[in-house]
Amino acid sequence: MTAALDACVDLAAIAHNVEVVARRAGAPVMAVVKADGYGHGAVEVARAALDAGAVALGVATVAEALAVRAGGVDAPLIAWLHTPSTDFAPAVAADVEIVVSSSAQLESLLGVARSTGRPVRAGVKIDTGLGRNGVGIHEWPAVRDALVAAVRDGSLVLGTAMCHLAHGDIPDHPLNEEQAARLDACVAELTAAGAPPEVVHVSNSAAALARPDLSRDMVRAGIAIYGFSPLDPDHGDLGLIPAMTLSAEVSAVKRVSAGQGVSYGHTWTAPRDTTLGLLPAGYADGVPRLLSNRLRVAVNGGIVPGVGRVCMDQMVVDLGPDTDVRPGDRAVLFGTGADGGPTATEWAHTIGTIDYEIVSGIRGRAVRRHV
Ligand code: PLP
Repeated sequence: MTAALDACVDLAAIAHNVEVVARRAGAPVMAVVKADGYGHGAVEVARAALDAGAVALGVATVAEALAVRAGGVDAPLIAWLHTPSTDFAPAVAADVEIVVSSSAQLESLLGVARSTGRPVRAGVKIDTGLGRNGVGIHEWPAVRDALVAAVRDGSLVLGTAMCHLAHGDIPDHPLNEEQAARLDACVAELTAAGAPPEVVHVSNSAAALARPDLSRDMVRAGIAIYGFSPLDPDHGDLGLIPAMTLSAEVSAVKRVSAGQGVSYGHTWTAPRDTTLGLLPAGYADGVPRLLSNRLRVAVNGGIVPGVGRVCMDQMVVDLGPDTDVRPGDRAVLFGTGADGGPTATEWAHTIGTIDYEIVSGIRGRAVRRHV
């Protein structure tokens, strides 16, 4: 039975999107499934992406990597975001490649090699311009030398060398090429010292879709495999299909008279006699309160406006005076956008954020279901 608030994830859409990205990038895809697959379910998305030809998986944290392994997925998997207290040992034991961003992280990882007596697989993330995590330019010579020494003494196998773009969503921004060139230079130094990385990657979804010249051995695609384009609409229809549809069961329908105020603060007042529909979705489920009075909802083949404040557990729509909507009917809050229906991108644009934040924020009473 479909839950009252249903987050349905279409795995065929994920597979389709992986193929679109690989074709445009001219390179294989690493499916980025951090944050529980951007809210879509990391394990299910990983499986669908791998079946569609993705060659590897990427997550931020060791805990996320272990959750993917616990789901029975044994594909190549990297994790790139760590803190001083991160314990690398369980990840190494689960064949997760730890991508380090500092000498301290590399030292901690080599400690695992020493204590197990076995070489560790490692990658390195270099901050070539993003100004976030990644080995900084001043620390690079020390990290490079430590990596080379560890490869030479057999305690480390160097898998990945990667960087992350600051302006991937502005495809012709000059920093994109500079960042890739800086990574290439670091890779050349490692190679010359006898420690070539096995794979090199630069691109996120935006660059994968719009800058195939930046694709190195693979591209790390997140948002695009979930069906959203990080590029301006003037890049045309890329053929991506949003994978998640959020729908709610109409919990109640009631007639009200003109002048009736709706929801906290009466920020909307019925301009005529009408019918209100109640939906069991609120800000605790990831429907931003900022969308109050700014939502469009698809129900029974029509589009109706959300009215009044979005509350913690519910929201209200104006079904109009002559509605055929009944309790138990389903209302789509966002989905593929087919037939002009609402999308997560529309939500994001309405409140000045990005679709990443919308889909990864669906939670609470929303029950995820994969089809
Ligand atoms: N690579 C890294 C290092 C990331 O942190 C992310 C996500 O932010 C990605 C790739 C995927 O980015 P996108 O979702 O824009 O494809």
